[in-house]
Amino acid sequence: MTPFRAPGTPEYVAAGAAFQLAAPVDPAGAFTARSVADVTDAVAAARRAGRPLRVHTTGHALGRAAPLTGSLLVRPIIDAPVEVDPGTRTARVPAGKTWADVLTETLPHGLTGLHGSSGTVGVIGYLLGGGLSFYGRRFGLAANAVRSFTVVRADGAVVEADATRHPELFWALRGGGGGFGVVVAAEIDLVPMHAVVTGMAVWDAADAPRIAPAWQRWARTAPPEITTSLRMLSLPPLPTLPPHLAGRRVLALDGAVTATTQADLPAAVRVADELLSPLTALAAPVSNTWAPAAPAAVPLVHLDPPRPVPFRSGSALVDELDEAGWAAVCNAGPSLLALEFRQLGGAFAAPAAGGGALDRFAAPLLHYAVGLAGDDTARDLRAVRAAIEPYRTGYTAPNFVEHADAPQRTFDDDVRDRVDRVRRAADPDGLFRGDHTAPVRG
Ligand SMILES: Cc1cc2nc3c(=O)[nH]c(=O)nc-3n(C[C@H](O)[C@H](O)[C@H](O)COP(=O)(O)OP(=O)(O)OC[C@H]3O[C@@H](n4cnc5c(N)ncnc54)[C@H](O)[C@@H]3O)c2cc1C
Repeated sequence: MTPFRAPGTPEYVAAGAAFQLAAPVDPAGAFTARSVADVTDAVAAARRAGRPLRVHTTGHALGRAAPLTGSLLVRPIIDAPVEVDPGTRTARVPAGKTWADVLTETLPHGLTGLHGSSGTVGVIGYLLGGGLSFYGRRFGLAANAVRSFTVVRADGAVVEADATRHPELFWALRGGGGGFGVVVAAEIDLVPMHAVVTGMAVWDAADAPRIAPAWQRWARTAPPEITTSLRMLSLPPLPTLPPHLAGRRVLALDGAVTATTQADLPAAVRVADELLSPLTALAAPVSNTWAPAAPAAVPLVHLDPPRPVPFRSGSALVDELDEAGWAAVCNAGPSLLALEFRQLGGAFAAPAAGGGALDRFAAPLLHYAVGLAGDDTARDLRAVRAAIEPYRTGYTAPNFVEHADAPQRTFDDDVRDRVDRVRRAADPDGLFRGDHTAPVRG
């Protein structure tokens, strides 16, 4: 008996549902696993069928690895709650939960996880790819805050991977590029978060070549309490968007300053002011919503799409741009929805004690460009890539690589070789080979 359902059945369609609508979902069979036993059944059935087993949760990153054609797809949506322990400041998160699910449980305790810009992203997929959050310059990559993963391996064994049990697997899972098994739960550290200062300042696009270099200069010495993102935005004329964003090309600066306790809040307000005052003196913004807020505001501030979309993107870890670079980039890619630079440094740059394969980013900035799938976007992504080329470090951030054919390199060769050894040991027959992103060498 196989649990995998055939194409055309409602169960197949439900298991293949994906946020990324631009990638075909055409596995030979698909199955939503509701328990760990369901997952072990799926692993055994895929082995019997001699087909690769693919794993996804929300399908945000569906295009990143090999096509699904010919494989079997398991979607682990484990039927169990997120368990928060306020005493140890940890949460046990079953596979299938999104960050919105986790925050619903943690925020009433004054605690948060190191989530990204959107609550719709799946926790496990995000953690496996490093996890870049608006709290990251203070607390580092989210993968460094994982205490353990519960994993169903290719041989069907259910193992706990942490610092002492299967430590090599634990190390490789954190940013190693997938292909190690099906994660059915993660235990993560939470951090106290009394409040944040967050919001979005928006300038006319014509002001971007002056604002962007000034933001970059500020970023060099900014305190770790603040993490920001600077973007050229060209959002569609949707009635749900504020008028200063709908159908206009603008420069937007958003992010968050942490106030872990009530006493931290005045300092957090000062940190935001030290960023915004000089920039708003350079050019008056058309809108500025930065203000103290509850941490629940953070996964909303970036205006990520709440519903599935067909998109194409490009990304790279980059060095600082010079003025000519900013001018070229600010004018490139007019059809793209967003052309982004996320501020790194701070704890993002510090090697984490006991961290995983990917425990830091050495670059000062992460560049990400995204548009609705189509010819204009493909053309503009190429143009933006050309503008960015002189500043590329040669490395990429796994969570922001969304296409199997995009150049990607997470590690130096020695780290990549160690990850490959762990993958061969965990999955000698390559059952999960399709889930393994294949970084370029050299
Ligand atoms: C709108 C949007 C906003 C984003 N914002 C951020 C951000 O702020 N910071 C950031 O770091 N990233 C961000 N991302 C990227 C996101 O973190 C990655 O795409 C991540 O891989 C998504 O995980 P998922 O489980 O939701 O997606 P999926 O496509 O379901 O999974 C991605 C991959 O993770 C693996 N995987 C997922 N679940 C399991 C499991 N249970 N067991 C084993 N492997 C599994 C699989 O290899 C799968 O191919 C964003 C993406 C989007 C589309």
